[in-house]
Amino acid sequence: CGIVGYVGQQDTLAVLLGGLKRQEYRGYDSAGIAVLTESGAIETAKKAGKLQALVDLLETSPVSPGHTGIGHTRWATHGGPTDINAHPHLGDGGNLALIHNGIIENFAEIKVELLAKGYEFVSETDTAVAAVLLGDVYREVGDLREAMRLVVNRLEGAFTLLAVHTDAPQQIVAARHNSPLVIGLGDGENFLGSDVAAFVEYTHRAAAVGQNQVVRISPETVEVIDFDGNPVAIEEYEIAWDA
Ligand code: GLU
Repeated sequence: CGIVGYVGQQDTLAVLLGGLKRQEYRGYDSAGIAVLTESGAIETAKKAGKLQALVDLLETSPVSPGHTGIGHTRWATHGGPTDINAHPHLGDGGNLALIHNGIIENFAEIKVELLAKGYEFVSETDTAVAAVLLGDVYREVGDLREAMRLVVNRLEGAFTLLAVHTDAPQQIVAARHNSPLVIGLGDGENFLGSDVAAFVEYTHRAAAVGQNQVVRISPETVEVIDFDGNPVAIEEYEIAWDA
């Protein structure tokens, strides 16, 4: 299971597929991507099976070009390895896409709450609950990073989460708890990955994300806060690895 995120000027799909390819060694049963398109919409493609199955799907049903995106390889824990259960999962009426590595232990009780509020679920995953909850909280607070911070304070288990929203087309918000996440620092572009393999082809400058931290990246900025909202200084290091 691997995660990749990209914000910058490049064709995001190529960066995402490359990043997923280089993380294949981690093992997975499904793959998917979400792109924030130039027209400001979120388009997704997801498929059970090898990465090649996703690539084939994208040949017949392409997504529109964009410069912000997230990509995921799934190792199913809640819900079988099907196309529908593959990530990304949507929230806020399709304006938000979320990917997740790990397990959300308390998803069932949150799902009951969200069902009572009238939300519907198309997949059986724990992740879809986080996506819908993030959308619900976002509608209240109007800021994706603050919504993410509030949501991760409610989740139990292990998670790396990456989310994009159509209201912030050049932004990715991410969080980690008991699951890995690294930042790749570029020039006019930034990356996220489960490990540096996700972006080592593009940059050798990286920054670790600590336990219980929330990250917001744009092409020009990287900000980290803890789960209480306090700013955290970024410690940059050089990746000693040839792509
Ligand atoms: N628990 C999530 C699911 O089953 C994420 C699994 C993963 O780490 O890929 O969809």
